[in-house]
Amino acid sequence: MAEIGPCKCLIGGQWAAARTERFGEVWNPSTGEVIARTPLCAEEDVHHAVQAAQKAFPAWRDTPASDRARVMFRFRDLLRQNADEVARLISREHGKTFAESRASVQRGVEMIEFACGLPSLLMGETIENIAPDVDCETIRHPLGVVAGVTPFNFPAMVPLWMYPNAITCGNCFILKPSPRVPLSAIRVGELLLEAGLPQGVFSIVHGDKTCVDALLSHPDVKALSFVGSTPVARYIYQTGTANGKRVQAASGAKNHMIVMPDAEMEPTVRGMLHSAFGCAGERCMAGSLAVPVGDVADELVERFRQEAGKIRVGRTDVPDAPVDMGPLITRPHLDRVCGYIDTAEREGARIVLDGRKVDVADSPGGFFVGPTVIDRVQPEMTVAREEIFGPVLPFVRVKTLDEAIALGERCQYANGAVIFTNSGPAARRFKRDFNAGMIGVNVGVPAPMAWFPFTGWKGSFFSDLHIQAKEGMTFYTQQRMIMTRWFEPAQLDKHDPVW
Ligand code: NAD
Repeated sequence: MAEIGPCKCLIGGQWAAARTERFGEVWNPSTGEVIARTPLCAEEDVHHAVQAAQKAFPAWRDTPASDRARVMFRFRDLLRQNADEVARLISREHGKTFAESRASVQRGVEMIEFACGLPSLLMGETIENIAPDVDCETIRHPLGVVAGVTPFNFPAMVPLWMYPNAITCGNCFILKPSPRVPLSAIRVGELLLEAGLPQGVFSIVHGDKTCVDALLSHPDVKALSFVGSTPVARYIYQTGTANGKRVQAASGAKNHMIVMPDAEMEPTVRGMLHSAFGCAGERCMAGSLAVPVGDVADELVERFRQEAGKIRVGRTDVPDAPVDMGPLITRPHLDRVCGYIDTAEREGARIVLDGRKVDVADSPGGFFVGPTVIDRVQPEMTVAREEIFGPVLPFVRVKTLDEAIALGERCQYANGAVIFTNSGPAARRFKRDFNAGMIGVNVGVPAPMAWFPFTGWKGSFFSDLHIQAKEGMTFYTQQRMIMTRWFEPAQLDKHDPVW
């Protein structure tokens, strides 16, 4: 496929070139070839997008909630009809296998389905006669123009965590996708327009820090949702809130997988493999540290190593590719992940399966690393503490569940954690005491479905209101309290007005 020219921005309902001389590159990570260029928007482009969104806001805010939801019903149907095409784009620009891309589109469809039902969540509350003849009610208002800045690892799904809810609440939304994967975000945006969204209600700008800073400093942007790495999340949260905006920022992770001696071995190994190596480990909910407890360690490491060695690594940009795992997103990221394996070796851990030696003969230019298993890792080693974001699973052996829980306590992140066990008391203790916002019991990836919030804690999330579900709706609305009193002529001389 030929290289696609510079991607367009969507501003005021029109696809147009950005006014910039700066561009980023989009690679096909299966081959290492450049397939498109992303404009790195200047402040001026962001201003135009905000202006168009601000202009569209009053009419969209006043559109009945049921009509706003109807756009989402059509959008949902269109995304389902075009799901394979979107999934192929994701595989091409990101490198997920087709099955992984298709599953991520399905998760996105569920986000839209949640938004279709939002009108009932938007209902306020009323108390009649909160004082004599005084009624009190709350109603929810949209905020105005809101923005979303998203990472590379789920090009269609993560934006869909945000804008179906934001838009159905009555806001106008500006998306700034990752410059590494703009193509699927653009295609899904086209489907949203086709669903009948008025001009200016949804916009797309592209870019890097310059573009994000323009959103963070623009007085008409009322709120910003962010998903990405922890240093950027912290910066965005601090800058956005200092500028008076509502900000929610979901960030990095180190998700511990605790395996108790009584765990069912076969499904445990399967669950861990899927968790650690699904999407080549480029998931914020990937199991990224295995913690075998007691005497399960030797058997677990050996069985996991054997099964991991069977994973087929290869290019994902061709139809029906017979592979289980695709490439990483870019060459620098590949080098970074391999660097972590080098560091583990240097610090004294044992590499029992080495992905650095993977050979993908039909595509030597691709950004491939194979599944990697590292045993005898100590808690203070780099690979036990830092987010690797690749198919690398370090094992830290501990003696007791208490020790495993203490290990979680020391971790800078607290996104997810899972326990594999047959013991109810152990699972209950873990659910209550382990330091993480999302917990799995005999489940490899406890990522919430659309009906639950994405509840990372500590260094994995900055703010109070999480992304998705009811908390997402709360984030994109502000409440107004209204107190009402009417006077009947006969009552006028009975009560003195109290307020
Ligand atoms: P990233 O932080 O590099 O980029 C995320 C977004 O921020 C992109 O749109 C990027 O253009 C923008 N950005 C980058 N640097 C910036 C800067 N200095 N100032 C302003 N904006 C900037 O993240 P990534 O590499 O695209 O994604 C991987 C990270 O995302 C991992 O750490 C992963 O754990 C995290 N992630 C978290 C969740 C979650 O829900 N917690 C979900 C998916 C991914």
